[in-house]
Amino acid sequence: MSSASALRVLVTGGAGFVGSHLCDRLVALGHYVTCLDNFVTGNADNLADLSGHPRFELVRHDVQHALPDAAYDRIYNLACPASPPHYQRDPVATLRTCVFGASNVLELGQQHGARVLQASTSEVYGDPDVHPQPEEYVGSVDCTGLRSCYDEGKRAAETLFYDFHRQHGVAIRVARIFNTYGPRMSPDDGRVIPNFVTQALGGTPLSVYGAGAQTRSFCYIDDTVDGLIRLMEAPGSRVGPINIGNPCELSILQLADLVRSRTGSDSPIAFLPLPGDDPRIRRPDIDKAAAMLGWLPQVDLAEGLDRTIAWYRGVAVRSHSACNDASAAPA
Ligand code: NAD
Ligand code: UDP
Repeated sequence: MSSASALRVLVTGGAGFVGSHLCDRLVALGHYVTCLDNFVTGNADNLADLSGHPRFELVRHDVQHALPDAAYDRIYNLACPASPPHYQRDPVATLRTCVFGASNVLELGQQHGARVLQASTSEVYGDPDVHPQPEEYVGSVDCTGLRSCYDEGKRAAETLFYDFHRQHGVAIRVARIFNTYGPRMSPDDGRVIPNFVTQALGGTPLSVYGAGAQTRSFCYIDDTVDGLIRLMEAPGSRVGPINIGNPCELSILQLADLVRSRTGSDSPIAFLPLPGDDPRIRRPDIDKAAAMLGWLPQVDLAEGLDRTIAWYRGVAVRSHSACNDASAAPA
């Protein structure tokens, strides 16, 4: 890439799972990347490959507070814990991160004419009564539930993005990301794939919440990152909301069986209580992403799981924490 087309890019939440893969890809594309993170769930190891790179810098900062003033061409706003046990640990901070964080990145974008992309979520659809979920579906969210700090925070953030666009002319993109998985999800992340894989590799029971009949649709990290960059670079001053996810849907019990077969594990299944507010079904309608971005997921679940399992085999499977030990009840 010529230096003329190299962009100055800010990635908030860049030390986390998705953010660190995004930083890697943006640096590889020739851009100048600043990662801003408060490390509440992020990990410096995720950025080890970028440490000392001349086009990469790390800023320790909390997006709940006004951002350090600097000019960027692009801002990806990913700062927010995404695992339910993590975002429910300090729900007030989660809601503030969503809302104040969105406001702060938008103000910076407004000041310097940057395009700003919001990492929104399938959780804005709540426990959906339309299936699969198209972007037009307005959702079914309980504003007082255990997940509301995240769901309603992300919904309010989307509102701020649209109002900053209409009121102040900020160029915006909104991605509604569905369950994404892959290397660098910490073994104690608490989400289902890190839990099942570490449990299967460690020979302990797989913690299926409820009867495992609830469904999810899992997208491999490389596909999600590709979708985010395509969305950011799509023409127009307002693009989205657009679902980014893999429509291949399965039940959590089917996922447990698949993880056991891909790891070759004979771990039993432990059925544990279903956490409050847990959506029963989820699958993205990705017609818009296909038509507007030319984006389709490329990595199927078996292949993505194999890559993920290989990564977990390479890191020491740490002793299980409260949130991935099947003997502990979920939050
Ligand atoms: P993650 O927890 O691994 O990463 C989040 C990052 O944000 C961490 O590095 C964390 O330290 C940082 N962060 C949190 N609060 C912050 C704050 N107040 N100030 C600065 N940094 C802060 O989660 P992830 O899976 O990488 O998710 C990244 C983004 O993508 C989140 O916004 C999440 O809502 C969104 N998303 C992810 C998924 C998914 O399946 N991974 C699905 C939907 C949406
Ligand atoms: N889940 C489970 N066992 C676990 C972790 C999660 O059965 O050890 C279930 C959880 O109840 C939910 C689904 O798997 O129905 C996906 O959970 P995750 O936390 O990965 O994502 P989210 O609920 O945010 O979609």
